[in-house]
Amino acid sequence: MDRAKQVQEMTETIAKFIAYFGKVLPDDIQKKLKELEEAEVNPIAKLTYETMFRNQELALKLNRPSCQDTGVIQFFARVGTKFPLIDDLPEIFKNSVLIATKCAPLRHNAVETFDEYNTGCNVGYRVPSIDWEIIPNSDELNLDIYMAGGGCSLPGRGMVLMPSAGYEGVTKFVLDIMTSYGLNACPPLLVGVGIATSIETAAVLSKKALMRPLGTKNPNERAAMMEEELERGINAIGLGPQGLSGNNSVMGVHIENAARHPSTIGVAVNTGCWSHRRGNIIFHSDFSYTITSHKEAII
Ligand code: SF4
Repeated sequence: MDRAKQVQEMTETIAKFIAYFGKVLPDDIQKKLKELEEAEVNPIAKLTYETMFRNQELALKLNRPSCQDTGVIQFFARVGTKFPLIDDLPEIFKNSVLIATKCAPLRHNAVETFDEYNTGCNVGYRVPSIDWEIIPNSDELNLDIYMAGGGCSLPGRGMVLMPSAGYEGVTKFVLDIMTSYGLNACPPLLVGVGIATSIETAAVLSKKALMRPLGTKNPNERAAMMEEELERGINAIGLGPQGLSGNNSVMGVHIENAARHPSTIGVAVNTGCWSHRRGNIIFHSDFSYTITSHKEAII
């Protein structure tokens, strides 16, 4: 197959995958929502979960997005230096969004800042966003794709704390955000926390924390303990599904961290909502692919 054909096929595969996971939640999210529903005793919360499951059934049956806000598309690419189409990837990503906008369909969510017009195609200046990680000596592309909705992006906050604030300061920061802005994203939430030196490094890590599958823990024992403590603390707020009260407020809390300057604690929070539409697809060097986030995906 010639290069142009390979580019076209990969573009179409990614577009179809975006359209698919806009309707079908990832396996880990579906499983967690079931668990939360079973653990729930509050009748309104139970009914809310039932409505969410019905929403999911109808999205598939009627071939419509799971939520009207299909977000801004974000790519997180871990790309091997030997992946054959490495030079074409920015165009492939952009064109896949253009195609998905029509075939999914996706709501038009790209408004040019300052010029204040909607591009009408979900592509604009620096949109879709692409985060690159180069993997030496690999010939694969491991791609997380995320629909960043308005509501689930609204609680996002970041701050650089004085070092004396310590981990208590980090905990207070996260809980303050959840008690003030958590309702803007439709709970139960996936809460991503980034801890690093400066604001931008913490912010990127907090979003990457949302790409981690549920059930995984931070490899550092203390960080993993903090994930559990924060989950318990946020659940105790009692937001419940859609903020209508209930036993649990979150699907999980994920922390991603980096070594930091001794004089700072940069911390940031990002949230994913119950309709956490992300997908992971791995392209191999022969352009076959493996979808890890949706085991039964047909695209
Ligand atoms: S927070 Fe999530 S479920 Fe709620 S409107 Fe936004 S994208 Fe949809």
